[in-house]
Amino acid sequence: MKIGVINSGSSSLKFKLFEDGVVQYSCVVEHIGEDGSEVANHLEALQKIEVDFTTLDVVGHRVVHGGEFFTQSVIIDEDVMQKIASLSRLAPLHNPANLEGIKVVKKIAPSLKQVAVFDTAFHSSMPQEAYLYAIDTKFYKQHHIRRYGFHGTSHSYLAKEAAKILKKELNELNIISLHLGNGASACAVKNGKSVDTSMGFTPLEGLVMGTRSGDLDPAIVLYMQQELGLSVDEVQKELNKHSGLLGLAKSNDVRDLQQSQTKEAQTALDIFVRRVQKYIGSYIVLLDDVDAIVFSGGIGEHSEYIRNKILDVKVLKDIKSLVIQTDEELEIAQECIKVLQA
Ligand code: ADP
Repeated sequence: MKIGVINSGSSSLKFKLFEDGVVQYSCVVEHIGEDGSEVANHLEALQKIEVDFTTLDVVGHRVVHGGEFFTQSVIIDEDVMQKIASLSRLAPLHNPANLEGIKVVKKIAPSLKQVAVFDTAFHSSMPQEAYLYAIDTKFYKQHHIRRYGFHGTSHSYLAKEAAKILKKELNELNIISLHLGNGASACAVKNGKSVDTSMGFTPLEGLVMGTRSGDLDPAIVLYMQQELGLSVDEVQKELNKHSGLLGLAKSNDVRDLQQSQTKEAQTALDIFVRRVQKYIGSYIVLLDDVDAIVFSGGIGEHSEYIRNKILDVKVLKDIKSLVIQTDEELEIAQECIKVLQA
């Protein structure tokens, strides 16, 4: 089966072609629509891909936000496209770009089957006590403000791989999965399902990330606006782009921070590690038995230093740890097969 996997962002389009589970071709088109770029839009980006889309069996798209509409991957039709568009309010930076990828494929290969695979879907198994914020329920009921969680495609893939390595049935697997890249999240997986995760209403909540703050007192947001005079956009930018490791130590590259001798760099990594440990601790309480802590993402896969620092506490001495290279594109390709077979 020939499966195309597309991750369409606002200024980039990533494509991989899988045949029988093996990558046959991949390409990344960047700077779409930027000043001076030779690629004006997503249609032109798609035309740069050296693959005849009409020869594919299916194309799978990464879609960031599935809201409460989508608890699993689906074949894309007009109704699905409308729902993805309606979720743009919750994910303004992602869903419109994901949808654009779907539209341009439809334009060049109208009869090709397309599948949407959502970053939020794996977390749809979270119970209410995990996904409701302790604010007036009208905000949930009328405005859909709740925790959704992201990186679900990665956490789902990691759970399946961990089950294989540990020789356990997925529905008997309890792990704490750590996707530690530039974006970072933790997930408590109980009996193969997500029961809690660190990202929330948006990817801003939770762990300290490359440039995102993760958890903080929401009063800080008000203070920045009321007392410091920052605009909504400025606060948004501060917390998403100028915080995390970058805000603390002027670099979001863990390799640089590990090599740096400065106190700032050391403190930034200590804050990063401590936040991960706090999440692990709280997930141990939720899971009772933990089969393994799974590390993934650029930091989780490559930084033995950070892994060792995280694991260097008494309660984790007897818990197995695994390092698994995540593969979100392969997971999307596998989801396509699952959806087509269903
Ligand atoms: P993204 O979320 O953008 O996909 P990645 O998963 O590629 O990010 O992770 C990027 C992070 O991984 C960066 O902080 C980078 O410094 C870190 N990283 C990559 N390789 C190493 C390494 N060998 N040692 C330590 N950190 C690493």
